[in-house]
Amino acid sequence: LSPVPSDIEISRGQTPKAVDVLAKEIGLLADEIEIYGKSKAKVHLSVLERLKNQADGKYVLVAGITPTPLGEGKSTVTIGLVQALTAHLNVNSFACLRQPSQGPTFGVKGGAAGGGYAQVIPMEEFNLHLTGDIHAITAANNLLAAAIDTRILHENTQTDKALYNRLVPLVNGVREFSEIQLARLKKLGINKTDPSTLTEEEVSKFARLDINPSTITWQRVLDTNDRFLRKITIGQGNTEKGYSRQAQFDIAVASEIMAVLALTDSLADMKARLGRMVVASDKSGQPVTADDLGVTGALTVLMKDAIKPNLMQTLEGTPVFVHAGPFANIAHGNSSVLADKIALKLVGEEGFVVTEAGFGADIGMEKFFNIKCRASGLVPNVVVLVATVRALKMHGGGPSVSAHIKFHYVKTELNGCCNLQKQIQIAQLFGVPVVVALNVFKTDTRAEVDLVCELAKRAGAFDAVPCYHWSVGGKGSVDLARAVREAASKRSRFQFLYDVQVRSIVDKIRTIAQAVYGAKDIELSPEAQAKIDRYTQQGFGNLPICMAKTHLSLSHQPDKKGVPKDFILPISDVRASIGAGFIYPLVGTMSTMPGLPTRPCFYDIDLDTKTEQVKGLF
Ligand code: ADP
Repeated sequence: LSPVPSDIEISRGQTPKAVDVLAKEIGLLADEIEIYGKSKAKVHLSVLERLKNQADGKYVLVAGITPTPLGEGKSTVTIGLVQALTAHLNVNSFACLRQPSQGPTFGVKGGAAGGGYAQVIPMEEFNLHLTGDIHAITAANNLLAAAIDTRILHENTQTDKALYNRLVPLVNGVREFSEIQLARLKKLGINKTDPSTLTEEEVSKFARLDINPSTITWQRVLDTNDRFLRKITIGQGNTEKGYSRQAQFDIAVASEIMAVLALTDSLADMKARLGRMVVASDKSGQPVTADDLGVTGALTVLMKDAIKPNLMQTLEGTPVFVHAGPFANIAHGNSSVLADKIALKLVGEEGFVVTEAGFGADIGMEKFFNIKCRASGLVPNVVVLVATVRALKMHGGGPSVSAHIKFHYVKTELNGCCNLQKQIQIAQLFGVPVVVALNVFKTDTRAEVDLVCELAKRAGAFDAVPCYHWSVGGKGSVDLARAVREAASKRSRFQFLYDVQVRSIVDKIRTIAQAVYGAKDIELSPEAQAKIDRYTQQGFGNLPICMAKTHLSLSHQPDKKGVPKDFILPISDVRASIGAGFIYPLVGTMSTMPGLPTRPCFYDIDLDTKTEQVKGLF
């Protein structure tokens, strides 16, 4: 329709096919799905075992140039591309997307189901609670946080013997270690299985974690942009006996458990990763883990359903997995390994799986390659790099926030194309062919579109094509689908940017800063240096790096557009996500809890209480 109706009107205008029908169409068996309502289902991991001899399809990553705060259409391109492949070129394809956080949905950006005629439907279910995975993450995360502070309180107020007696359960009147406690004894070098044989010294060693409160890195989380929780004081009630400390909330999608969900490949692996998560150091400098706190089993129980990918569909009835949703600026920014692995089997050798990495290629794509592909062992075939004329105008000196830039101009060189050229070069560092998808807005002129495509090809893109999926659906992205199919027929020369084992933490951070962001060098705060020393000493120096950096610039300064030069990247702090498997440096003043603007999206969101229809989501 013209003008294109609102996203929610388009979404509601299409009746999704029943999810069991969709599941059957894509080759899932009836007992491999659990249906949630009419149009969502969780898919069992047993599919991977059934299809283990099936060759994988082609693996396509959608990344982008440095965006405006409104987003440049990576989700819409991802959906438009699979709609074009499946519904118009008759090639099996699957989109794998992140579940949106309620932070942006009620904050600035709105939902993330795509938009226009390239959407996942029903978009309100996609954008709101889905099947509750983020709630499960929040519950698990906060259970662990509660376990840490409570344990410190109990250790401060009880004798070693009393602690020990409470921790080791009585079974038929006899004390018995649980499985997890036996593992802890082993870690402590106490080779005993009978609780009655422990010496006094061993009892104290076992009972006390001796957490050093100043080293606690595990934070509470919430899936709401609540800036007033960025710094809090906990334990101010009389019952906490004066044990109070400064703490903070992070947004749930930045939590390590979200990253674990996104990177795990089985239930057993998820349990092992949850158990390895380091929450603090003890008073002798040794790491304290979720296993030490005895909470791993409970965390796994809370996460047992969340690990199954969620099946939904596009407006044109093609399959989509929505699973895990780490932010790309303050987390690793990619949907789950498990969804990609299952989808790659389901599409078959000739099919395509299209997944999306958050924000610009400098962050989401870099982490897709160096963290996600390293964890999964999967090799990508093509990068689709999404650009818009509006963002390129911003990089060329135009206004940065306006959704509707009212001026048109074509210079002999569109200055802002430097950002596109740089992002193409970044993708090329990894040896994967790049197809540029120019997401066309109705305000773009023919001359602008031609110029951007021409400059992209000159910068080394395999191809560059305009896309019109937002206004007409999959048929508007058929040229993109053809270009991607062509690029995927070439051999991928995929390589990582750094050797994770040999290089030091500082060296790996510097490599990303210089080779990807274009920084002159990095500068570590004393706190960051101390953490790096601690993590290296604890044996965590051989992990990949997950930079927490603004998505609004290649540098650490959001207002520096285009391709900033000669900057020194400040590393203010470093955290470790040992269960997820990465070291997490914070660049500049990056906050792990976003705030709300003066007029957040929630002003427009409402429920028609007669029809129960949601209004105002986009
Ligand atoms: P990203 O995934 O890069 O953050 P999205 O795909 O979510 O971006 O798109 C951001 C917003 O821009 C959405 O509201 C979407 O509907 C809108 N949008 C995307 N492409 C177009 C287009 N070609 N014309 C108009 N609006 C668009």
